[in-house]
Amino acid sequence: MHPRLTTDRDGLPHLLEAVQQHATGVLAQVSEREVVPAVALPEPEPLPAQGAGLQTALDEFAARWEPVLSASAGPRYLGFVTGGATPAALAGDWLTSTWDQNVMSSLDGAGQHLERETVGWLRTLFGLSGQQHGTFVSGATMSNTVGLAIAREWLGEQRGVSPAEHGAGALGTVRVLSGAAHSSIAKGLSMLGLGRRALVRVPTLPGREAVDPAALEQALAEADGPCVVVVNAGTVNTVDFDDLSAIVALRERYPFWLHVDAAFGAFAALSPEHAHLVDGLDQADSICVDLHKWLNVPYDSAVQFTRRPDLQTRVFQNAAAYLGPLGDTPDMAHLTPENSRRLRALAAWFTLRAYGQDGHREITERCVACARALGDAVDSTPGLRLLAPVRLNVVCFTLADNPTAERITALADQLAAEAFLTPTVLDGVPALRAAFSNWQTTEDDTRRVAAALRAAVHKV
Ligand SMILES: *Cc1c(COP(=O)(O)O)cnc(C)c1O
Repeated sequence: MHPRLTTDRDGLPHLLEAVQQHATGVLAQVSEREVVPAVALPEPEPLPAQGAGLQTALDEFAARWEPVLSASAGPRYLGFVTGGATPAALAGDWLTSTWDQNVMSSLDGAGQHLERETVGWLRTLFGLSGQQHGTFVSGATMSNTVGLAIAREWLGEQRGVSPAEHGAGALGTVRVLSGAAHSSIAKGLSMLGLGRRALVRVPTLPGREAVDPAALEQALAEADGPCVVVVNAGTVNTVDFDDLSAIVALRERYPFWLHVDAAFGAFAALSPEHAHLVDGLDQADSICVDLHKWLNVPYDSAVQFTRRPDLQTRVFQNAAAYLGPLGDTPDMAHLTPENSRRLRALAAWFTLRAYGQDGHREITERCVACARALGDAVDSTPGLRLLAPVRLNVVCFTLADNPTAERITALADQLAAEAFLTPTVLDGVPALRAAFSNWQTTEDDTRRVAAALRAAVHKV
């Protein structure tokens, strides 16, 4: 064995303690460091020919790279939709690497069973029935793509072909109808050989990102045969929700696969005041929920639910003699794009075990309260204008006068040390979004962001 490996192996208790102390130090100041540091990037260095051991790697990471990382784990990183990692989720993630399981097969231990138990807990959390089979994937883009892959196979079933066997070309024309689909839907369609242009944009309600159910019905009538409907349960700009119950009702008249992108909107189910937004979710054929957002587990984690695991297996089966037979409960290798995969469920298992439904409801409701408070602050700040009511956890706003993309970027830059908000464009208007999904964010953070905004608005 290489001498550096022996030294690190023998010194492991000690070294891991050093890493743990270092991590504790990072977390202790994550809420006070600059959210996005304005520091020059380090120059790339050549591959070390000789190693210097774990301690040196840690020191060098701390010196060269940590100063330029963002405080995305902290409470005022409000860009995109970004969660942190709860204490238990962090512990679960450490132990995932400690155990380094490959949960693709049932031949070597119970990792897959832990994943199935966790999926059962998530079902309860989101109010889903046992009809929804779930698997862990790396993020919502993958979850949407897997859902669409199963939809593709369903379309094949309707048309008497199997795209999994004969290729997407065997399907003929495919229509995927959606109001304000997330960009990952088009990406998924591209990956699946259906093409980005399969996505047909259905008109939304006036001034909204939610699909107009009457327009959707018309598009279904014109589609002349089975198609796919992507329901948006929580859009990234204004967290708008399609009327899921109305769309479910359309299934009595039109044949379509109902996919719901509930990447973070599914968490509305945790709040009694907002649960109605996802009424009917269980009726979906496939559902995407991100976990590295509002569940606050580390990247990369999401869950994919479907009522048709048989079609899922048809798409993703990875039959090989050495992997064992498919059986009634197919191994995970037959259900997702990956074969080898980490015990990704463990971080989710830990946080759900540690804080339960109650704890995660508290995180959800606190984030919503923070978003409302910031929405009120924006509303009462001269020079700023809300672009949509705060429906859940995102505040979408712009400059009251002359909101050019340049001025919006300048406004975001002014805030960057105190808070990270991401620019967007809503109905042609450049805007900023503040998305609340970190377990640590408090009303006090919200006040700080509001104060920073009030100060920044005069400087752009
Ligand atoms: C974040 C998000 C996605 C993509 O999620 P990734 O985890 O970045 O792949 C898809 N849909 C919606 C609605 C999202 O908010």
